[in-house]
Amino acid sequence: MTQVVDDFFEFGRSAKSFLVLANDLSVIDATSTFLAEWSLRRDEITGQSVFDVFSNTTDKTGSNDARPKTLISLQEVFDHAPGFLCVTRGPTHIVELVNKPCYQIVCHRPVVGMSARDISSVGGNYELVRLLDQVYATGQSYVGRAHKIKLQPSPGAACIEAYVNFVYRPIFNDEGAVAGILAFGYDVTKEILVRDELRSSEDRFHLALEAAGDGVWDWNIARQTFSLSARGRAMLGYDANEIGDSLEDWFSITHPEDQERTRDQTMACVQGRIPFLSCEYRVRCKNGSWKWLLARGAVIHRDGSGRATRMVGTTIDISSEQETLRRANFDSLTSLPNRSLFRDRLEHEVQISRRTGKPIALMFLDLDRFKEVNDLLGHAAGDSLLRECAKRIRSCVRAVDTVARLGGDEFTVILTDLDGRAHVEFIAQKILNVLARPFDLGQERIHVSGSIGITMHPDDGAYPEDLVRNADQAMYVAKNAGRNQFCFFTRSMQEKARHRISMIAELREALPKNQLQVYFQPIVELRTGHISKSEALLRWQHPQKGMLPPSEFIGLAEESGLINDIGNWVFIEAANWSKRWTEQAGKLFQVSINKSPIQFMPQKNTMNWGTHLRNLGIAWNSISVEITENLLFNTSTTTEERLLSMRDSGIQVAIDDFGTGYSSMAYLKKFDVDYLKIDQSFVAGSTADTISRTIAETIIVMAHKLGLKVIAEGIETQEQLDWLKQAGCDYGQGYLFSQPLPPDQFERLFAHRAA
Ligand code: C2E
Ligand code: CA
Ligand code: CA
Repeated sequence: MTQVVDDFFEFGRSAKSFLVLANDLSVIDATSTFLAEWSLRRDEITGQSVFDVFSNTTDKTGSNDARPKTLISLQEVFDHAPGFLCVTRGPTHIVELVNKPCYQIVCHRPVVGMSARDISSVGGNYELVRLLDQVYATGQSYVGRAHKIKLQPSPGAACIEAYVNFVYRPIFNDEGAVAGILAFGYDVTKEILVRDELRSSEDRFHLALEAAGDGVWDWNIARQTFSLSARGRAMLGYDANEIGDSLEDWFSITHPEDQERTRDQTMACVQGRIPFLSCEYRVRCKNGSWKWLLARGAVIHRDGSGRATRMVGTTIDISSEQETLRRANFDSLTSLPNRSLFRDRLEHEVQISRRTGKPIALMFLDLDRFKEVNDLLGHAAGDSLLRECAKRIRSCVRAVDTVARLGGDEFTVILTDLDGRAHVEFIAQKILNVLARPFDLGQERIHVSGSIGITMHPDDGAYPEDLVRNADQAMYVAKNAGRNQFCFFTRSMQEKARHRISMIAELREALPKNQLQVYFQPIVELRTGHISKSEALLRWQHPQKGMLPPSEFIGLAEESGLINDIGNWVFIEAANWSKRWTEQAGKLFQVSINKSPIQFMPQKNTMNWGTHLRNLGIAWNSISVEITENLLFNTSTTTEERLLSMRDSGIQVAIDDFGTGYSSMAYLKKFDVDYLKIDQSFVAGSTADTISRTIAETIIVMAHKLGLKVIAEGIETQEQLDWLKQAGCDYGQGYLFSQPLPPDQFERLFAHRAA
């Protein structure tokens, strides 16, 4: 009997259900190694067939015992079995025992004691009887798979076709001859139908797709194979077998930038988080070029526990559409989303955030000193710097986050699905860190940094445009606070920004409304004590705020570009006064004006200062222009050309605030500078500290060696004046002589001193 039970049990194991049944009856402890001997016999007292179960259970304690454990009525076991169970005896297969499900096969007739041969005529399942004969005759068990039989689900119901898996196992008597057959089977109709349906729908699917000209892919997740139809391969130029047949082989020709996204989306579909896959990505063709493909697909089969076993889909070449779309949505230099796509994404993320309640962060990032690199090393270097920056910023965020380039050296980052501010700070710092690493551009090693403004949705603003404005304001603050830092948006920033905007609007009106004035401060020749020149200094008579010094508005004028018009106006004023005071003095009276670096940049309508002076009929050197050292040092070709042409036309050049910037002797020579203006700080410090004094004295000596004249600024005391005179300084300017004055007052002072 051991054979029978082993097989019985083996079959039960594969069918699982039998195991469960056995468990229910406490026959088997599933956690133990099960070895059992079951014997079938007729109980002498009751006349029933019974199973004796001798279990030899090696339990977890390792003890071994072999003794009868349970005695169960076989009928009881049979009736609980989910499948078909039947025991026949003798060559005519007299039914000894059947369980309830078997009655479906025999149209619910009583069959115990009858020959299976007679019964088969009832259900029409002749093949089942033929196989009983075969097993009985050969003594070999028979295993049938997906065997088609007829069933009557309930008495009186119509017969239906069904599929069963079953096993016939001979039962041997003590002499070793076949005495009967144990049959066990279960219904697999559902599985078979599903499989057939799947197969035919898959075939139809493939056919339809191939006909549509798409490539068809088939990923057998269970077997870990991936294949693309011939048409799909041809699209990329590959022949059969040129690419391996695993999904990884396919990922290996997927563009590195698209891999993570493609993988994520595929897994989302495999795990059932999204019903369909629709993913655009680039694949390397055989000839090395990249093609944009659109892959669409779905899981077409999952196993009993819901695990995806197979995914099928199509792939089409969308390169040309993609190209058009890409141009409209992506920055061609860095391949990052451009302004328009950025706006779309922001809009989208704000909507999601409203639904989920999860905050998002928007960062505006501006590279510090990018312009200088561009000017110094040229556009090609600037371009590679931007590309490298884009890559580095991208590396700091997750694939789901957006990094976009708005243009120039401005980037934005949208961080979604946030837990808190700490995370945002962490990312911002990470970005600053990666940007702080040196950039190797050809032969040059360059250092740049970034300034980041951050705003949060929904805390700081509900609408995308609010967020954009906030982030921009915060970035402006970060930049002004000294660069290479990040700054979160605050309400007070908004106040300041509002103030700035209204001030710019008012400044726009200032010139036409005659609110600007030029004050003049005398520049004294130290040797003689004569006022020999003056510096034009701008003032704004603000209608509400009163007289404003340049520190309150020059920055705004530069930022808004108004400095060009204002600067030209100052120049015209200075030229007029120079002409007048030259006539009054009977000798050249030079007026110096301050010129912002912005005024050297390319612009639409430039005023030709030389022509203006000629038309006024005054000398070129009536005007000298004060610029800062940094302008010389960071000069671009345009700036350089403008500076040199201004120089060549005779306008003199003074270096303002000398000693505070990048001082370079070479540049002083190159641009043939006329004056150095020693910065006020050295003059103010001269009384107290010797270092300031030494620096000032050195500047004077050096300037004279180079043939330049020196003007000391900010002279407030007699002591300072005495020292400067002694040091050989040529000119002086400061409150000791006079504050900057309105033209009429200056003129009176001038006339008085001359007299
Ligand atoms: P700056 O060119 O260095 O001008 C000298 C500044 O020092 C002036 O300030 C002047 O009033 C101040 N000053 C003169 N003597 C003394 C002194 O003895 N002690 C002290 N503590 N300060 C003294 P102001 O007029 O407020 O101008 C500030 C800056 O604004 C100027 O610095 C210049 O860079 C800029 N600025 C003035 N006018 C113009 C303009 O027309 N165009 C441009 N682009 N910038 C201008
Ligand atoms: Ca100046
Ligand atoms: Ca100065």
